[in-house]
Amino acid sequence: MSKIIFSPIPDQICFLPILILVLFFKLFAAAPDPIVPNTALHLAESLSQDSLRKHLFTLADDSMMGRATGTRGAEMAAHYIQDCFRRYGLKSPDNISNYLQPIPMHGSLPLADSRLRLYLENTVHDFELADDYLLYRTGAQTYIGTAVPMVFAGYGINAPEFDYNDYQSIDVTGKIVVCLSGEPESNDSTYFSGCYPTIYSLPETKHRMAISRGALGTILIASTPEYEKDKWNRWKREFTFEDVTLSYTVAGQLSIVMSLQSAELLFHDAFYSLNEILSMVKHHRIKSFPLPHRISFKGEFIERDFISSNVIGIIEGNNPELRDSFLIITAHYDHLGIGPEIEGDPIYNGAFDNAAGVAGLLEIARIFSQNSQFLQRSVIFMAVTGEEKGLLGSKYYLDHPAVPLYKTVANINIDGLAIFEKFNDIIGIGAELSTLEEYLQQSAELLGLRFMTPPNIVVAMEAFSRSDQLAFAQAGIPSLLIMEGMHCKETNIRESFVRMQRWLNNIYHTPQDDLNQEMNLDASYQHLQVIAVTVFLLSDSTIQPEWKSGISYKNVQLQNLAEKR
Ligand SMILES: [Zn+2]
Repeated sequence: MSKIIFSPIPDQICFLPILILVLFFKLFAAAPDPIVPNTALHLAESLSQDSLRKHLFTLADDSMMGRATGTRGAEMAAHYIQDCFRRYGLKSPDNISNYLQPIPMHGSLPLADSRLRLYLENTVHDFELADDYLLYRTGAQTYIGTAVPMVFAGYGINAPEFDYNDYQSIDVTGKIVVCLSGEPESNDSTYFSGCYPTIYSLPETKHRMAISRGALGTILIASTPEYEKDKWNRWKREFTFEDVTLSYTVAGQLSIVMSLQSAELLFHDAFYSLNEILSMVKHHRIKSFPLPHRISFKGEFIERDFISSNVIGIIEGNNPELRDSFLIITAHYDHLGIGPEIEGDPIYNGAFDNAAGVAGLLEIARIFSQNSQFLQRSVIFMAVTGEEKGLLGSKYYLDHPAVPLYKTVANINIDGLAIFEKFNDIIGIGAELSTLEEYLQQSAELLGLRFMTPPNIVVAMEAFSRSDQLAFAQAGIPSLLIMEGMHCKETNIRESFVRMQRWLNNIYHTPQDDLNQEMNLDASYQHLQVIAVTVFLLSDSTIQPEWKSGISYKNVQLQNLAEKR
């Protein structure tokens, strides 16, 4: 989640004139229309749990083969969604035929005989793909034919705002940058956000920093808890799936994550051993220095080009002044597909990641289409492809939007629905960043729920940057992911945490996220009602949602407006 900086309020400001202005607006500009709550509740009650179940059981069925991007299963899902949009009477956008937005993509699957070779004094050492290292980037452009030097660059971070720079004393031009995962430890919220990870700890950020300084590639040492030995197998599994990029994105250079045990060899004969460096970390005395040996990489890949589609439908609003402004509701329909077997099952069905979300999107589309007379603004429904591959479908859409971005007032993304139990409160992932927060608070109130600020465990998950809402935010569109809260009818907050953590550890991104798992569709239905009411309140509001001051996405929103793009 991008950092939120609120500027402190200076004492000398005189409040009175401002206060009168605010009161005036509160009284006259946004006088609530009493019909709205009833309509909102009417729509919420019109949602059908049976219909939700039917979509879920269709999309998460084994016959869809886990809906991996660019596979037969995903194509079947796209046609199922297209057919629903047609049956529900949604319009295909003017610049898109038959609801399908085709996206050229490139797939690359690394093969075991790829060779990462370390040149020691008198011998060479070949690292094993998957056991020793994993590839963040694949494809021919990762090739490093002649052995090149390596340099150790601490965490691989340059953060001027924290007066921190691992690149101060080293030149990485034409070399491979080796760095630790994570970022400097801190309990001070003004330094690297204290206990919460910042954007600097993202492998992608470190890779870009190294490449922008002339490096040929990066090796990230898996030195932080999420990479511990028992978790390495989970990473191995995640990396067995095909690496997919948008065909028009520039292919990236070598980007590797290496297990801690294997990385020790990179420091053979070096100034410091890896163990010495890890103890320096504890005392915040990490150093950057050249490594004595060279490395080369010759990757073997199965590569292919293919088309995958976003599925897009529109319901037009009725208000002549508002119908030319659009809300966009998204849910990704892709998942991981067929992969390493667990308990004899190779199909990664993605029932709650995210067949449930797409089922919800379809059910809201059905109800809104039947009740379109109540809609002021127009609503776009988009089932997104390529989310699991790096938000590819939403990024492509934002480069090729069905309607101009400045006319797109907000994005509500659905990724997963509540699965355990009916709940008493609701969380808005990203709500604190914009005025979308107010709409969620209103719908919570309408549905007798409490609005809860994201608890630390959710903040630590960086939930905002893990699904399509991030792409919309980066394009300047206020976006939100609505999540069920932690206080449930029968279960207290602590038990809820444990239950959610267990699901994330044992079911998420495994074949067991399927229709055989225990699921409480009353909770999913309740969750869907909150989403539907929030979307309706937004479609009915004459006020355009805005990013809060100090939020970096605001500049992009203003630019969209200024350039009418
Ligand atoms: Zn997902």
